[in-house]
Amino acid sequence: MWNPHFHLPVIHDWMIYGLAMEAIAGISLVAITGLAIYRQVRGPRRIGRQSRFANSRHWHAYYIEAYIVGLLASIFVIRGFKVALDDFPFPVWVTPISHAVGAALPPSEAGLALVAAFKLIISWMFFLVLGLVMTMGIGWHRFTAPVNIYFKRNADGAPALGAAKPMMDKSGTKPLDFEEADPDEDPFGAGKIEDFTWKGLLDFTTCTECGRCQSQCPAWNTGKPLSPKKVVMDLREHAYEKAPYLLNGTTEETPDIHDDVLSLLGKPLVGTEEEGGVIHPDELWACTNCGACVEQCPVDIEHIDHIMDMRRYQVMIESSFPSEANTLLKNLENKGNPWGMSEDRRLDWISELDFEVPVVEDTLPEGTEYLFWVGCAGALEDRAKKTTKAIAELLHMAGVKFAVLGGMEACTGDPARRLGMEYVFQMLAQQNVETLNEAGATKIVASCPHCFNTLGNEYPQLGGHYDVVHHSQLLATLVDEGRLTPVQPVEENITYHDPCFLGRHNKVYTPPREIMAQVPGVKTQEMHRHKERGFCCGAGGARMWMEERIGKRINTERVDEALTTNPDTVSTACPFCQVMLGDAINEKKSAGEAKESLEVVDVSQLLLRSVKDGRPTTEEVEAEKA
Ligand code: SF4
Ligand code: SF4
Repeated sequence: MWNPHFHLPVIHDWMIYGLAMEAIAGISLVAITGLAIYRQVRGPRRIGRQSRFANSRHWHAYYIEAYIVGLLASIFVIRGFKVALDDFPFPVWVTPISHAVGAALPPSEAGLALVAAFKLIISWMFFLVLGLVMTMGIGWHRFTAPVNIYFKRNADGAPALGAAKPMMDKSGTKPLDFEEADPDEDPFGAGKIEDFTWKGLLDFTTCTECGRCQSQCPAWNTGKPLSPKKVVMDLREHAYEKAPYLLNGTTEETPDIHDDVLSLLGKPLVGTEEEGGVIHPDELWACTNCGACVEQCPVDIEHIDHIMDMRRYQVMIESSFPSEANTLLKNLENKGNPWGMSEDRRLDWISELDFEVPVVEDTLPEGTEYLFWVGCAGALEDRAKKTTKAIAELLHMAGVKFAVLGGMEACTGDPARRLGMEYVFQMLAQQNVETLNEAGATKIVASCPHCFNTLGNEYPQLGGHYDVVHHSQLLATLVDEGRLTPVQPVEENITYHDPCFLGRHNKVYTPPREIMAQVPGVKTQEMHRHKERGFCCGAGGARMWMEERIGKRINTERVDEALTTNPDTVSTACPFCQVMLGDAINEKKSAGEAKESLEVVDVSQLLLRSVKDGRPTTEEVEAEKA
């Protein structure tokens, strides 16, 4: 029998209960209504591709929002009817919304019964939602997100940033040894949805479709087809579609299999529309591995791991990747650097200095504090060589004993690994680990954030354990300790570009900024997207060696943003960023859109300009010679 005066035993008239219920329901109602309005105002219908909800399935979101609004509103209406019936134990100051609603309602027991029934139905809808969300995804994350966050790859930090996920053998416990690996037995990346690990499938099903990853993705923001959200959603839909057949044990060999099932089972994971692929190759190869998606995801989905798994299969099994990358791989395999230059060219920069730099022959010279890992760009690319020389000069001035490997240094393997060619990565990495261990290196300073990341975070996967710092960290410490003193004013407006593999992947945001702050006269201005939300230069993920044919160039987008700060100089701390931004600035200069004097410099070059010990710098000697 319906009793309109029913209430909870014991707590029904506790002030704290009345207040908590009012506050939670009130705040939730405002928040969920705000979200629905935001979805309208910032939805793709109004702002198109810029909307982070582009690609999301809207009716699912509105369905769940309507369910929550219905539930919360019915709480206030029931309370309102109780106020009207003078059967409500809380005063106005504790439950103002309920009293306001009650003032507008008649004292009707029938009305109260009706709304209570409605609330009951809405509550039962929860179970309906529960059933539906199994296939909807958008509500399902409430159950899977805590598990997904708990099982993220780097439990003590951001997931899937820093080291790339190593390739494991079929046991899943040992890194894959290419000497013994068997592509028919061991997983060579992901060529089918079932090749992803359980964590991958959990990632796909956990996506909330919030679009935060998409809104930060440099590829999506420059008009390319890649959206990390869409990749995750497409993989999820494909997994849901295929799962019943996989669970049934249906295979392409199963007798009386239907054509539609056959085509589903044979659907390529990566392929064009004509091939019926789940992920288009243009999506797969547009990723710069910048990590913005991983950093932004509220439920710790590890997009980069999945993109790399698909790349690994495409490169190592299908031999299908952008043709330009072929040259990169050949050069890495044959010459140990992406440009295919001979190894003795790695010492050219030293001859341009006016002091001796010790080069390791077998082991590090006595008393060496740091092995200076120069990197391929730092040794072979003209603009990056200036940074290398600036770092060497600064270390020399500060009295830091350092040595270089010269011709014994090979590419760390980062571009090969990020391209998906794990075999070449392992080959180069093993060679370097052997060299470093034989030389007795323990402390390394690296000028390239990609080398810094690979040496410090990935070489331990292959038995190379070193204390690795980035040059900006070491130089900031030397300034801090008074071993380098910037004195010459540099009267310039400078904006700093965060390299993704220094910032987002390794959380080194402060040292480069500290260096700039110590240089007298420098006025710094941050770009809108900086630090965790910094925008890639377009070079990572081996993109440096691929053509960028679709949409706006990522480096141009970044330079456009830099220009909004009206800089005299753009500073950075990565040779690849320096090259990419430099190229875009040169184009802007040719188009008359940037001042002729605008340049990109590494923070070490900036510091060198300010730190004078009475001698001309190498740059000045060069300028004089010219
Ligand atoms: S890593 Fe960067 S480029 Fe790749 S999908 Fe994520 S945000 Fe986009
Ligand atoms: S940020 Fe994470 S949860 Fe949000 S859409 Fe992207 S992958 Fe899904």
